[in-house]
Amino acid sequence: MSEKNIRISEIFGPTIQGEGAVIGQPTVFVRTGGCDYRCTWCDTLYAVDSEYRHQWQAMSAEEIFGRVQELAKKPLMVTLSGGNPAIQPLSPLITLGKKHGYRFALETQGSVAQDWFSNLDVLTLSPKPPSSGMKTDWDVFNDCLKTAGEGPKTSLKIIIFDENDYAYAKEAAEKYSHLPIYLQPGNHTTPPQNIDKDALNERMQWLIEKVNSDQWFEASVLPQLHVMLWGNERGV
Ligand code: SF4
Repeated sequence: MSEKNIRISEIFGPTIQGEGAVIGQPTVFVRTGGCDYRCTWCDTLYAVDSEYRHQWQAMSAEEIFGRVQELAKKPLMVTLSGGNPAIQPLSPLITLGKKHGYRFALETQGSVAQDWFSNLDVLTLSPKPPSSGMKTDWDVFNDCLKTAGEGPKTSLKIIIFDENDYAYAKEAAEKYSHLPIYLQPGNHTTPPQNIDKDALNERMQWLIEKVNSDQWFEASVLPQLHVMLWGNERGV
């Protein structure tokens, strides 16, 4: 048994992936605890803020994979999410799961590069736009791409709240034109559990109009499917 050194906020599923390149695919979520960012609109603070640390559990790769197998019963795509899962030692979990036919997708803001990114099947890099209050370190972001190499299917996902975020996404798309890009209207609610579906729909429509009027036909505009279905409820 390896060390219990992976901080876990929650493991749940099977459900569907609600965002990005593998939207709609059945998956089990492994949500790690802890993040090096503090985005103003973070909707998973319970997996970020040390105030919730007492709810996190230190687990070994074998324990996590055991729980995933219990839930999934047969191989499927495991989504490694957070917080920022890139700050956890996830390599043994990925190696173990892959031996049993499981596939792994990871989403991170691209602020920490790990050499085990190359062993993933899907890597979603989600740099945070200006409305998050965070600043992207593009050198580290480039390191993430370098360490992933040709291993996973890599794409960009950018959350958009306003014109500044949209301009940021356009710049990123120009810089990384070889990567597919998914734009996602921001989920702006305080507290985040209370979803304003009308406001979300309006932002989605605004974004679609912008992309079309700019003839930005390489972009895909996607909602957060799970938020449409279940709001910001945990564990679905
Ligand atoms: S990077 Fe993600 S998990 Fe971390 S604070 Fe920002 S939105 Fe929350």
